[in-house]
Amino acid sequence: MDYLKANQPAKILVVDDIPVNIQLLQTHLNGAGYETVVARNGEEALKQVANASPDLVLLDVMMPKLDGFETCRILKSDQKTRYIPVIMVTALNEIEDKIKGIGAGADDFITKPFNKLELLARVKSLLRIKTLHDALQEKVRLLEQAKERLRELAVTDGLTGLNNYRCFKDYLLQELRRAERHQTEVSLIMVDIDYFKNYNDTHGHLAGDQVLRDIARLMHDNIRNIDFAARYGGEEFAIVLSGTPHDSARVVAEKLRLLVEKQPYPKQEMQPNGNLTVSMGVATFPQDGKTAEKLIECADKRLYRAKSEGRNRVVDEG
Ligand code: GH3
Ligand code: MG
Ligand code: MG
Repeated sequence: MDYLKANQPAKILVVDDIPVNIQLLQTHLNGAGYETVVARNGEEALKQVANASPDLVLLDVMMPKLDGFETCRILKSDQKTRYIPVIMVTALNEIEDKIKGIGAGADDFITKPFNKLELLARVKSLLRIKTLHDALQEKVRLLEQAKERLRELAVTDGLTGLNNYRCFKDYLLQELRRAERHQTEVSLIMVDIDYFKNYNDTHGHLAGDQVLRDIARLMHDNIRNIDFAARYGGEEFAIVLSGTPHDSARVVAEKLRLLVEKQPYPKQEMQPNGNLTVSMGVATFPQDGKTAEKLIECADKRLYRAKSEGRNRVVDEG
């Protein structure tokens, strides 16, 4: 018995307009352990292929309306069905039928009246190829999945799930180029958690990690879909707002700052200012910097002014 999928017999679609032919083929195939489905003409065959996903098709040539050649041609021209092996059942010595069948994409032939052993041998041989093909397809699918996951990992920060630094740099460069072309603005917010070393030292690194995740989520959930948040470094984040002027970016920054201030974090009252907070610097292309480096430098400078002026604040000028 042949097994295509684990513990499942191969499924064979038998297509013939004469019931006694179907019966005979079914008897042989079922006797050899195959599962069979049937169709009595070409149209029905196409429907059965879609519904039953057979592993092989035994296709009679002579049928009314849609004949075997045409049915085969349709199956072989469809990406979804072209790898299902087709054995054409032709009348003895009809060499023209065989040539037409090859043209239509048939994989093999048996001639009527057929020999049972030959039939089973041909079926078995094509199913073996189908099994190999299916296994290869599955490997290709898994490979594609792994590639997609790698692409994701390459741009994602492992702790917070936000975009990582590399992704941020690429994105900022791309958005600045776009803004230059279309003469629009791009704002950048740099965020740094206040007294975070103190939080880690007091409550442990794991508690610190949780705060990083919480703040990352808070930022991610409170910007628009078209805005971009990344983990810039240890306890620093960067937000890129495309097409956003300076004043609007300041409003966004202030909103986020307030959300962090209001959000309760475990044992935050032990922080130097009695609360877990963030400081931010805002800079906007083109007026604050025409390159990514200059823009980051400007936002960074303002962020550190926010620190020196008392933390838990947004600085967007100077
Ligand atoms: P400031 O208000 O001036 O920003 O003070 P700070 O303590 O936040 O700044 P500092 O740069 O001195 O310390 C940053 C701390 O962030 C130090 C480090 O332990 C912590 N940190 C960086 N990355 C991680 C991380 O992945 N997980 C945890 N738990 N802590 C981190
Ligand atoms: Mg820092
Ligand atoms: Mg800090």
